[in-house]
Amino acid sequence: GSEASRALAAKVVTALQLMQQVTVDKEEELGHLDAIAGDGDHGQGMRFGATGAFSAAKDAAQADAGAGTTLVRAGAQWAESAGGTSGALWGSMLTAIGGVLGDQEPATATTVADAVAAAVSAVQRLGGAKPGDKTIVDSLVPFTQTLSSAVEGGTRFADAWRQASDAAQAAADQTADFVSRLGRSRVLGNKSLGVPDPGAVSFSLLMKALGDAGTF
Ligand code: ADP
Ligand code: MG
Ligand code: MG
Repeated sequence: GSEASRALAAKVVTALQLMQQVTVDKEEELGHLDAIAGDGDHGQGMRFGATGAFSAAKDAAQADAGAGTTLVRAGAQWAESAGGTSGALWGSMLTAIGGVLGDQEPATATTVADAVAAAVSAVQRLGGAKPGDKTIVDSLVPFTQTLSSAVEGGTRFADAWRQASDAAQAAADQTADFVSRLGRSRVLGNKSLGVPDPGAVSFSLLMKALGDAGTF
């Protein structure tokens, strides 16, 4: 990859290391959320996925891969290491981001925002969820919309990211008011009322941690 892309790949590795740490810290909490209306493995799945992705990204970056290749390899390993629905969805997100960024062009705020939008589309294509179905999509859509609008409006990228993660968190909290319509938890229907969707919560926690650390 180009020098700029390899510099971004190094940031991707740093980001995935932080994400792995967050999944370790939040494993139990996410497992509890998933146990209420799911099968209780979301914390473990996120930890396995982020751990595999971090390791794959580190190997790729050490072999001088650009950001695109680093993200694509991390995504494949996330899906493989995590198993489960959220693992497949996270894998598809990283892969989509890597596909848009590629290994040559220096990433601008706009290309990163576009890459995130492509990741959200990939999740919707793969999982078929719409906002309101009580899934990660409820948190993804406000995240990408806020990020794109802020970047378009000329907001500094780090600030745009923080605005987007605040929107993601508010949206994740709101899923407590929804009844699950998709995934394992749908069969339990009203049991999920009052409890937020684990996938939406984990996504917002990870985005907030990245925003606080100022990685991008
Ligand atoms: P599994 O459901 O296979 O045990 P996890 O527990 O790791 O996987 O992930 C559960 C999360 O995955 C849910 O909280 C939800 O956010 C997300 N999810 C499940 N099904 C879908 C879907 N069809 N579309 C989008 N997100 C989904
Ligand atoms: Mg589960
Ligand atoms: Mg499971």
